[in-house]
Amino acid sequence: MTSLNFTCLDDYDPESLSVHRARQIMLAMLPAVAGHERLFVRQALGRVLAEDVISPVDVPAHDNSAMDGWAVRSVDLAATGETRLKNIGTAFAGRAFDGKVGQGEAVRIMTGAVLPQDVDCVVVQEVARVDGDSVIVPPGQRAEQNTRRAGEDLRAGKAAIASGKLLRPAEIGIIASLGIAELSVRRRVRVALFSTGDELCSLGTPLFPGAVYDSNRYTIWGMLTRLGCEVIDMGVVKDDPATLEAAFREAAACADAIVTSGGVSVGEADFIKQLMQQLGEVAFWKIAMKPGRPMAFGRIQPDGRENGAWLFGLPGNPVAVMVTFYQFVQPAILKLMGLDPVPAFPTFPARCVEDIRKGKGRTEFQRGILFQDNGEWCVRPTGAQGSGVLSSMAKADCFIVLEHERGKVSAGETVQVQLMTGLV
Ligand code: AMP
Ligand code: MG
Repeated sequence: MTSLNFTCLDDYDPESLSVHRARQIMLAMLPAVAGHERLFVRQALGRVLAEDVISPVDVPAHDNSAMDGWAVRSVDLAATGETRLKNIGTAFAGRAFDGKVGQGEAVRIMTGAVLPQDVDCVVVQEVARVDGDSVIVPPGQRAEQNTRRAGEDLRAGKAAIASGKLLRPAEIGIIASLGIAELSVRRRVRVALFSTGDELCSLGTPLFPGAVYDSNRYTIWGMLTRLGCEVIDMGVVKDDPATLEAAFREAAACADAIVTSGGVSVGEADFIKQLMQQLGEVAFWKIAMKPGRPMAFGRIQPDGRENGAWLFGLPGNPVAVMVTFYQFVQPAILKLMGLDPVPAFPTFPARCVEDIRKGKGRTEFQRGILFQDNGEWCVRPTGAQGSGVLSSMAKADCFIVLEHERGKVSAGETVQVQLMTGLV
């Protein structure tokens, strides 16, 4: 069994971990999943590159024109005053001008057309004047202007995109620009998920007294799907030792990671926590944050085999689930996906227009709405911020991140916000 050795970590106090430290510990422990597959370039969107893409060609492949205009030799241009040059032909994109441009001559050239030999300057058509079979060029032109040199974007033999990069439309375009149709990417991360709780009711069944519909499984499913995971939805699991054990065993046998909700808070029956520990090596953390204080992290390896699954035991409250997912599970999954480096979510300053109550000694993730006032970005909390108020997530377009040491916020103060666009 892999030993996770939580206790050897510096600055490790499971009873009070900062958000930053908890994320750091997780990321340090998680490897990228092994296993590659070859895909056609379009299917690779959203996947992580498993090997460097080496450029087989220079991009662009030829010196060419960046503008529609006139291809000239800069040595022919007068230092002051206009220059009259003879028009000797046209270079089109995909149809080069084959002749030689001699002294006092110019070629009409289109954007993307190969530069004729000895030409080092393109004069844009808007400033040139045609006079019969001549073209008149104004002063002030420079050598190399409006030209694109072979290999200035990418050099043959060099890595165009490094292994570990997430393939976005720009990367897909670069790969296509190299003429590469197939590439090697990491396989998808398989994530099993289930909700725990005797009070949970599945959709399509009437609510019994005291029951709630299981919404966490839907938000978690959505968040995992957005990340491109292969999601294995195992449904609701009752707070019953035998049923829970069977669920953990099944999940560990088929997935790289398991995400659960509920069962990790102080008020929960201890057998859930005991079970998690018995089936693997799991730490129960109290993270200095709000919402989402309790969380379990570790490995479930029921048979002591190497191939268990990573466990992310999230709290039960619906907002806490989403906040802990974005702050911890999402970067962890990006690491499992092979993303290198795992990007930090950027935060930006905005002016908070309302007072916010906040105690020092924990990081808070309030839900906020951004707006502009006289060109300045401002933010207002969504209203009720209870960890069960899922509508606060639906109304929000950002998290207001109130730092660990910060106390209350007065209206007008600057706060840091984390955009949900991009995060979600
Ligand atoms: P727990 O962490 O299991 O004590 O749950 C805390 C709160 O979250 C309780 O009010 C639960 O009813 C609620 N809760 C737990 N699991 C879910 C779920 N899957 N969907 C919606 N609410 C849940
Ligand atoms: Mg519960």
